[in-house]
Amino acid sequence: MDIIHLLPDSVANQIAAGEVIQRPASCLKELVENSLDAGAKRIQVIVRDAGRTLLQVIDDGKGMSEMDARMAFERHATSKISQAQDLFSLRTMGFRGEALASICAVAQVELQTRRPEDEVGTLIEIHGSELVRSEMCSCPVGTNIKVSNLFFNVPVRRKFLKTDQTELRNLLTEFYHIVLVYPKVSFTFVHNDEILLELPPGTEKQRIEAVFGNPKRNVYTSGFVDVNTDTELVSIRGFVIKPESATRKAEQYFFVNGRYMRHPYFLKAVQTAYSGMLSSDYQPSFFIYFDINPEAIDVNIHPTKTEIKFADEQTIFQILMASVREALGKFTLAPQIDFDTNGSIDIPISHDGPVRPPQVTVDPTYNPFHTRSSHTMQQTAAPQWETLYPSVSGRSNEIYQDRLPSSIIPAETGPHIPVFDAETCPLWQYGGKYILAATPEGLLLINRHRAHVVVLYHQFMTMLSQDQCAMQQLLFPEVLSLQPDEMVLMSQLLPDLKAIGFEVEQLTPDSYSIQGVPAQLANQSPIPVLQYILSQVREREANTQSEWREQIALTLAENAAVPYGRDLTAEEMREIVQRMAQLPQFARTPDGKTIVSLMTDDEINKRF
Ligand code: ADP
Ligand code: MG
Repeated sequence: MDIIHLLPDSVANQIAAGEVIQRPASCLKELVENSLDAGAKRIQVIVRDAGRTLLQVIDDGKGMSEMDARMAFERHATSKISQAQDLFSLRTMGFRGEALASICAVAQVELQTRRPEDEVGTLIEIHGSELVRSEMCSCPVGTNIKVSNLFFNVPVRRKFLKTDQTELRNLLTEFYHIVLVYPKVSFTFVHNDEILLELPPGTEKQRIEAVFGNPKRNVYTSGFVDVNTDTELVSIRGFVIKPESATRKAEQYFFVNGRYMRHPYFLKAVQTAYSGMLSSDYQPSFFIYFDINPEAIDVNIHPTKTEIKFADEQTIFQILMASVREALGKFTLAPQIDFDTNGSIDIPISHDGPVRPPQVTVDPTYNPFHTRSSHTMQQTAAPQWETLYPSVSGRSNEIYQDRLPSSIIPAETGPHIPVFDAETCPLWQYGGKYILAATPEGLLLINRHRAHVVVLYHQFMTMLSQDQCAMQQLLFPEVLSLQPDEMVLMSQLLPDLKAIGFEVEQLTPDSYSIQGVPAQLANQSPIPVLQYILSQVREREANTQSEWREQIALTLAENAAVPYGRDLTAEEMREIVQRMAQLPQFARTPDGKTIVSLMTDDEINKRF
């Protein structure tokens, strides 16, 4: 029986129009979702040149009749909904009937498909919406769809695609979003004849391990606790990381009714549940699956968007926060969790309190103002830390002077900064954290760690643009193990990481060996630093070189800056203030944290 019919126009118009296929990743998503909707148990993805040349999806689903196979490529042809009301109770991934029509309009598509009840299958070939071949064929049950030369007839779109590495990363990200909600389906992902992922069927937890588990760290077998809450409104299941297993590189996934979603507000609920348990730069990893009546959410949004609107977000926020807390309280011994605070949703996220120390070891005798001469290998001209500075304050500044790092600075004006003489103004330090400077307009409070971060940030940016670095060889090379998408990302960042002083080399298909680090990081383990860079670049979608350079420079600066606590010498204090004052802007750090705050004369006088 043929099962596909055309949607009436009135319904079609209710469905948000838009470009469904923007890049190979969106095409992959549509194809794999179709396979899942067809009940496939095994799905193979074969990609060439990050999807530019070929994107092929082979499934063992229910296949299509000859007539359906032709209908499938018509606009608004779908077997999944037939009237407007159906839009509000969706349980399938697709429903718009737009995907295949859009794909075949911009690519060369070959489809082979057979239903279990049919003896022979159907082969259809369409190039740019034009049917070029339609015949019977012998093929296994299921559907095999090959999309070649995507955007072959839309040169502008083709040009718009990013590098292969970026597009491949996008493909893998999209793939992760899907495979994590279908653990019972087996998947493979092959790129240019190399198997990047092979995922056998299993439980959700096994799937998460298969995708993210790093056998060397063994984090994913032991580091997570279950979340499990059932209420009338929503059921929440999943896994959240134990505070002591958290790292700076977090995997954060929300799914609702089998779809990946981004949800900054719910993310805040999870972060709030962890407040006081993680140090400030650590993030909780989680995989949280919501199940909710489809009528209570709105998925009828642009097909490429991953935001989903919930009817009762505040209540779900509360339930989510409470269930994460409960999970953490049940399975971790410390710290004590205060359930009384559940009532308000405006709980400030505190980064203070009982904090487990980060894994980087801090050498209290380390002086960031002096490169350790003993075993520093100078790779290029830059013998002493100090000598790197003239280039920062001098000519090279023009390279990025006045250009706020667009990707990381929020568009917001900073606090008023008085004019003052950084060479002579009196300085004091306070609380192991602040420098106080007397200026003609009042007392300038300077967060000294952040001041040092912004100074180092500009230094690193200069080093990146001029390819001059001071590298320190490690006595014992360290190994950085990565997932496939991170390997892709790493190869993309490699030239810049080398330019800034990392000596790295690919060791195996899923690891790099680190043999040298920037001299400023000489006393730290490079692994967490590199992992953090990768996660930040990915999270902030830093897709251009200037964006990821900003991220690399910022991460290194944060790690190399003098930590809070130790008192500085008078010279060190002066040096930080002077160098800071020479920068084009020092009101905020590149990621928007306040560095200086003025207590005006007036304010001081009013106190007396
Ligand atoms: P939608 O998924 O929104 O219905 P598509 O354009 O993606 O629209 O697909 C159109 C129709 O083609 C689907 O409704 C389905 O009936 C059929 N179809 C597409 N891919 C497959 C597949 N892999 N196996 C079986 N049927 C498929
Ligand atoms: Mg579809």
